[in-house]
Formats: sequence, structure tokens, C-alpha cells
Amino acid sequence: EVVVPEARDVVVIGGGQAGLAAGYFLRRAKLDFVILDDQPEPGGAWRHHWDSLRLFSPAEHSPLPGWWMPRQPGEEFPTADYVVSYLADYERRYQLPVQRPVRVNGVHDAGAWLAVDTDRGTWRARVVISATGTWSEPHLPSCPGSEVFAGRQSHTESYRCPKEFADQHVVIVGGGNSAAQILAEVSAVADTTWVTARPPRFMPDDVDGRVLFDVATQREAARRAGLPDDGGVRQLGDIVMAPSVLEARQRGALRAEPMFDRLTERGIAWDDGRALDCDAIIWCTGFRPALRHLAPLGLRTENGIVPTEATRSVQEPRLHLLGYGDWTGWASATLVGAARTAKPAVADIAQRLAQAAG
Ligand code: FAD
Repeated sequence: EVVVPEARDVVVIGGGQAGLAAGYFLRRAKLDFVILDDQPEPGGAWRHHWDSLRLFSPAEHSPLPGWWMPRQPGEEFPTADYVVSYLADYERRYQLPVQRPVRVNGVHDAGAWLAVDTDRGTWRARVVISATGTWSEPHLPSCPGSEVFAGRQSHTESYRCPKEFADQHVVIVGGGNSAAQILAEVSAVADTTWVTARPPRFMPDDVDGRVLFDVATQREAARRAGLPDDGGVRQLGDIVMAPSVLEARQRGALRAEPMFDRLTERGIAWDDGRALDCDAIIWCTGFRPALRHLAPLGLRTENGIVPTEATRSVQEPRLHLLGYGDWTGWASATLVGAARTAKPAVADIAQRLAQAAG
């Protein structure tokens, strides 16, 4: 397919779940738009997760707008592959104009337009929606001794399955869901040491994605009503007791050590004199918003994020940010949250474009 850069009312950058949710509402608003995605196939981050990853909630609790995810035969919690096929079907069903692979290198202020520079030419846009997610920006904390460690260091981003660590001693770093789930399966085939900066906080056993969404919804309602913030899902803990994590707990594999202070040639060491040899370290230390393409706009950032009013950039009102995390709207890095934040974002864009057209 020949990609021809053109002028559009709206250019969406990123064709993952957040970009598709935006596409659904842009189509309904009859706006002229394109979605640019740098991947060869549909699915966004779901194509890059490890083999055993599943949604935290049953399919019917994870809808994109318009067409809910059908149940996966034989599975209560859909697999990542199934989510990929749902996203691919969703694109087709709504004939969303996704161009891929197109890599956006930079968004520039070009007067009346925003210029979207890509490896396939420059698109012009009245409004840009950035929905580039986080998976392409793995976060690796710096650690003394990192260069002397002779074993293998990797990040969640490249982890696929436990097989490659069989019979090794593996250190897993991080106190979130990725660390707990990877620990759960690696500990079944290897010796593991789990290391966390703070003691891990487990959610109650009966909390899954459904409860998290309910709590997040209540929190949002309270916020709108001007009531004090009770911390939302954070008060429940960080780690969902997914079936694999529960099973690892039964095996006694969920004991965590405090964060080590440095790497040595053969492993990790604490300042109190303790040391441990290991073959591999998996850093499950999270991701950051993928915002490099916005650098030419010279936007002020706070802690690596762009200040927004709802999803609209405070400094550049022609730019909306979708997905990424709670800072761009309620649970916006989830399927159901992507839909809820895309709707008002597109309503705002449609209104401003209509005003500008006079
Ligand atoms: P992405 O899916 O990352 O899509 C962004 C797209 O933009 C990608 O295709 C990317 O390659 C592309 N892109 C990036 N930069 C550029 C550029 N410069 N030019 C062009 N294209 C670009 N979510 C749920 O909804 N439910 C769950 O139960 C759930 N469970 C999870 C469990 C775990 C352990 C983890 C790690 C995640 C889970 N998630 C869950 C979250 C989910 O995987 C991601 O947060 C989600 O895919 C983010 O969607 P997105 O559309 O914002 O970004």
C-alpha cells in the first residue's frame, strides 16, 4: 500500500487500544483523520507482552467503544494474543484509517498547522492526538557495578517465557504486577530471588480487574463531587493475585528481599555485607510515556509528563494525550479507560474545530 502524507483535521499517533478508541469517536464525529502506527501489525503493546500474559478481567469487562470484546472460548481471562486479534478485528470492523508502519519522528508547530514528520513524509494536522503508550520506553534504574556484572541483564520488555532461565539463579527486581507475574513462572523452573524497593503490597485474593474498575469509578465520582481522595485502587495494594501469583505463594516463592546496593561481577550485594551470586537479573522496573516525538514542540514537562487539562495539553491546545496512565484520565492505560477518556477528548476537538471553522 502506498502511503501518501496529506493534510488532515486530526492525526492520531499510535494505533494501540487508545488510538483505536480515539478513531471510533473521530469517525462518529465525521472528522477527517488518520492513525499513524509504527508497528507492522495491529495490537499495540499487546504484541510485545510475555507469552502467558492475560487480561486482569473477563472479556465483557474490557470493552472498546461500540463493540465489546467477545468471550474467548474456554478462557475466563483473555490471553494477550486474543486481545491482539480483537484489536485487529476492531480496526477492520470500523474501517479505521490506520497507516502502518509509519514512524513519527517529531511534531512541529507550523503556524496554522501542526506538522507531523514521519519516515514516510510529513502530514499536516489541525489537531494531533498522541497515543503512543509506554512499551517502547523501558525504564532501567542505574545501579553501581552494572558494567562489571558478567551475567545477563534484561528488562520486562524483552521477557517472553521462563524456559530460557531454566535451572539458573535469577534475580527479579520490582514490586509491581509484571515482577510478580514473571517471578511466579520463572520460580517454577529456576532458583529465584525477588528484590523490591519497598515491601510488596498484595491485593486481597478476590480482587481482579472488575473490582479495580469499580473502585476507580467510585474514586472518579468522588473527585467530581469534590469529596476527599481516598487513594483509589492504590489503597488496595499494588499486586493483583492472578492465578499464577496465588500458585507461587502456595509454593512459598513470594518472599521479597530489600533492594540491593550494587552489582558485582558474579551477582548482587548489599551494604550490610551480604552478597548473592546469580546468572541473570530481570529488571521489572516499569516503562515511561513514549513522548520523544513531542520534543520539537518544546513543551514544559513535569516528572516526565506533559501538563494537561483532562487530555488537552495546557501549553499546546492543538495537542491531546491519550492512554499513558491516570494523568491523562481515569484508568486511561486500560481498555475500558481508553474508551472513557477518548470520548470527551474527541468532543472537545470537534467543538474547537467547528469554532475555528467559524
Ligand atoms: P500501546 O498499546 O503501546 O499503543 C501505542 C502504539 O503506538 C504502539 O503500536 C506503538 O508502537 C506506537 N508508537 C509509539 N511511538 C510511536 C511513534 N513515534 N510513531 C508511531 N507509532 C508509535 N490493560 C487492560 O486494559 N487490561 C488489563 O487487564 C491489563 N493488564 C495488564 C497487565 C500487565 C502485567 C501489563 C504490563 C499491562 C496490562 N495492561 C492491561 C495494559 C496494557 O498492556 C497497555 O497499557 C496498553 O496496551 C496501552 O495502550 P495504548 O494504546 O495506550 O498504548
